[in-house]
Amino acid sequence: MRVVISRGLLEQIVALAADSADEICGLLLGQEGRIEAIASAANVASDPARHFELDPAVLIAAHRAARSGGPAVLGHYHSHPSGVAAPSATDAACAAPDGSLWMILGGGEVTLWRAGPDTAVNVHFTKVQLDRR
Ligand SMILES: [Zn+2]
Repeated sequence: MRVVISRGLLEQIVALAADSADEICGLLLGQEGRIEAIASAANVASDPARHFELDPAVLIAAHRAARSGGPAVLGHYHSHPSGVAAPSATDAACAAPDGSLWMILGGGEVTLWRAGPDTAVNVHFTKVQLDRR
């Protein structure tokens, strides 16, 4: 599968990650197959240099907006300031196999993944082609 994102929006996310020594995070909003906006969120993890946890208020607000006709919540993005652009063991442990998109920034790269079911308890990340337009 592939997902479209504008170059401008992608550059915005890359700039947020480049500016931060901590992992940055936020939501990917839009419609199926197309990321149209982001909602940056505070990283409220206790160790934000190595983990991320989206500010739940941002999540709640985005889901509420989606229910009242706003853009769908497709997934989220986060960065690995000193790692690679691939799901970490922690990411795999924390992910729910709910089909949401995971955008990961690290080592100057951006990758996109879909967290799908593997077994009932394990998540399987499938790489998604990011179509930059
Ligand atoms: Zn991660």
